Amino acid sequence: MKILIVEDEAKTGEYLRQGLGEAGFVVDRARDGGDGLHLALQGEYDLVILDVMLPGLDGWQVLRSLRGRGLQMPVLFLTARDQVEDRVKGLELGADDYLVKPFSFAELLARVRTILRRGRGGIDTVTLRVADLELDLLRRRAFRGGRRIELTAKEFGLLELLMRRHGEVLPRSLIASQVWDMNFDSDTNVIEVAMRRLRLKIDEGREPKLIQTVRGMGYVLEVPDR
Ligand code: CA
Repeated sequence: MKILIVEDEAKTGEYLRQGLGEAGFVVDRARDGGDGLHLALQGEYDLVILDVMLPGLDGWQVLRSLRGRGLQMPVLFLTARDQVEDRVKGLELGADDYLVKPFSFAELLARVRTILRRGRGGIDTVTLRVADLELDLLRRRAFRGGRRIELTAKEFGLLELLMRRHGEVLPRSLIASQVWDMNFDSDTNVIEVAMRRLRLKIDEGREPKLIQTVRGMGYVLEVPDR
């Protein structure tokens, strides 16, 4: 599988190139929009990872040119601003998914694999659903039984991870690396505290309880049996 990274920031670009290379992908990198477009038009890429803020042509112009010429390879865009207009614009221009900087490499890799697995054919991850719990990834809103639940950015990230991998017990170390982008430190109870708040918001006074603690292992979001 061949991936093109279009990213001007040396540190991020190199980190992505190296990480994806180690994960078994063949990776090319362009440092500005013009080069990125040129390479994308020539190369047979399975995926383009496109930064939005680029010198020369910006990410939007590159994306528009690609789609305008009928190239349909999947595009994952990177944006530094967590703003709904950016996400809507990118998806409307034909991108397949996005990540807000800073992100963890583990999260990027998970997205890359999901996109490559499902291939092109529309975005199927705009809303995540488990039972009557809904997470609108585009507008970053959560609903349970149709009622809006206010979440902080971290709580949203935590719930998104639990919902994307529902039914799977997630160890604290994985949650720490994906939501807080930190190595797990057993002295901190930041995860427990955030999880307790999230459970109050999601499950308090509602049935079934969706977030479960699995002793000594971690947390899982699922509809309990029976
Ligand atoms: Ca940039």
